[in-house]
Amino acid sequence: MSQATIIDGKAAAAAVIDTVKAGAAALEARTGVRPGLAVVIVGEDPASQVYVASKGRMAEACGFKSVKHALPADTAQAELAALVASLNADPTIHGILLQLPLPKPLDPLPIIATIAPEKDVDGLNEVNAGRVALGDFGRAFVPCTPAGSMVLIRSAMPDLRGRHAVVVGRSNLVGKPIAALLLAADCTVTIAHSRTRDLPALCRTADVLVAAVGRPEMVKADWVKPGAVVIDVGINRVPAPEKGEGKTRLVGDVDLDGARANAAAVTPVPGGVGPMTIAMLMENTLVAATRAAG
Ligand code: NDP
Repeated sequence: MSQATIIDGKAAAAAVIDTVKAGAAALEARTGVRPGLAVVIVGEDPASQVYVASKGRMAEACGFKSVKHALPADTAQAELAALVASLNADPTIHGILLQLPLPKPLDPLPIIATIAPEKDVDGLNEVNAGRVALGDFGRAFVPCTPAGSMVLIRSAMPDLRGRHAVVVGRSNLVGKPIAALLLAADCTVTIAHSRTRDLPALCRTADVLVAAVGRPEMVKADWVKPGAVVIDVGINRVPAPEKGEGKTRLVGDVDLDGARANAAAVTPVPGGVGPMTIAMLMENTLVAATRAAG
């Protein structure tokens, strides 16, 4: 069997960004409203620092107002809530992103719940999660990674009706909303998790296999049904002694080389879902600004 197509997340993201840039310029010309994105980061987590920097750069490239609030790791819950309240009240800010994970003992859920739903461009608060669960996509902000994953899935398998989709992972951030989107696309959806029995056999029944687990290269070649579309959401840093002592590299939750032998199309890590996540954040921010402008 021929090798699977590698789904180019960078190219797909670049196309979304081009559309967002044009949309932002048109919105500002028409209404004077310039989309504004505020990113809040607490503590020094190195991976989060990298993500926040790239989100800020991309927001600027899109012509947005981009604001970063970096708070120390010992920030009190009330202080963080006060910052979110001030951003909720700021008419120049249309999107608020709270970078996760938060350092302990901060509890993300009560803070996320205070983000105004119309500025919750990460789609994580209960209003938007509820709208996604209800299939009310016209008013929801769909979380960025699931939204981006769907674009990539559709690019590889335009007709999803009746397909069996298996989503491995049931987090609020990724697994559950991807499952809701696949269901809305008329897939038959199975959600798997750490207690699922005989996961390899279940995965072998998937026309669309989404891995959102956080375990390096867990999904092996023989878990993949011939002709499946495989979406690898995982981002895992593993030792790479071949690059030198102490060096690391990024891998996904899927054994990419193995999966390529069976799948019709797979996303690489890096260069697959990751770039789409940032692109969808920009799209959601533009949507938020457009709604705010009436
Ligand atoms: P979570 O840790 O919140 O969830 C992981 C899920 O995987 C849980 O539902 C867990 O099951 C399940 N799981 C863990 N081990 C197994 C196993 N052995 N077999 C089956 N299921 C298992 O992670 P996230 O959903 O936040 O993220 C998942 C991955 O995606 C991570 O690698 C993360 O870095 C990456 N990510 C990538 C993004 C991107 O832009 N590309 C954005 C966000 C995340 P249970 O519920 O039973 O514990």
